Amino acid sequence: MPEVRHDPFLGTRVLIDGSRLERPTLPTTGCPFCVGGLESPEPYRVKSFPNRWPALGPGRCEVVLYTSDHDATFPSLGAEGAREVIDLWAERTMTLGAADDVDYVLVFENRGPAVGATITHPHGQIYAFDHVPDRPARVLAAGWRPDDDPGERAVCHHGSWSAWIPEAPTFPLELHLAPTERRGGLVDCDDADRDDLAGLLVDVLDRLDRLFEEPLPYMLWLYQRPTVAEGYDDAWFHIRIVSPWRGKGLMRFIAAAELATDEYINEIVPESLASRLRAL
Ligand SMILES: [Zn+2]
Repeated sequence: MPEVRHDPFLGTRVLIDGSRLERPTLPTTGCPFCVGGLESPEPYRVKSFPNRWPALGPGRCEVVLYTSDHDATFPSLGAEGAREVIDLWAERTMTLGAADDVDYVLVFENRGPAVGATITHPHGQIYAFDHVPDRPARVLAAGWRPDDDPGERAVCHHGSWSAWIPEAPTFPLELHLAPTERRGGLVDCDDADRDDLAGLLVDVLDRLDRLFEEPLPYMLWLYQRPTVAEGYDDAWFHIRIVSPWRGKGLMRFIAAAELATDEYINEIVPESLASRLRAL
């Protein structure tokens, strides 16, 4: 089990786990997510299973496979395939969140070696926390809600869901996706909401892959209502996507002055980027 420590001055929570150094960075034989592979002996369309190297400890970390097609991308799943992923995200959020010792379920994806994804087969992950982590807690406390009028920063929309670039992104490429009517999380989204989200995710991720005509490395996560019994009635479900690329193959590194101050310099103008994404 990892050991929980806190920075005494900043309060930052850190999990210390030396055993993680022993986990493989790449599978030695074939893809473990393809049908017949280590994690997927049987045929499937989408599936989730416990992560063999659970960063938060046993029972708290899962892997989600978006398709059995190794060479697929999220956009190539189409809205129907994306909907199956969304339904699985919703089911796992509900099931994991139902446990008394789970207060927050984080659904996320790291895509591409530039952000540490060691297996290219389309997949994401889920972490089930025993507390509400600091950053989502701050987002909730601030009463996050969608940008009513993103104007030149608007990217696209599908029915009840829209995507835009936030006013002050800390990453060169950052998008927010949210429903126009408040939903706490996927479990509050009906069929129509989920179909709209599926359409929007496929559209947005397709635009992002065409931006540099190369698969974009990105990190994607869902900010859903904490899975506690009471409170957080104003939580507004949304999705954030960020990429460390500031140009094709060009990594943006968080520099000393930014890390030192938690203040950022972004050389990509959100309005210009939104215009490029709208035109794709
Ligand atoms: Zn595979």
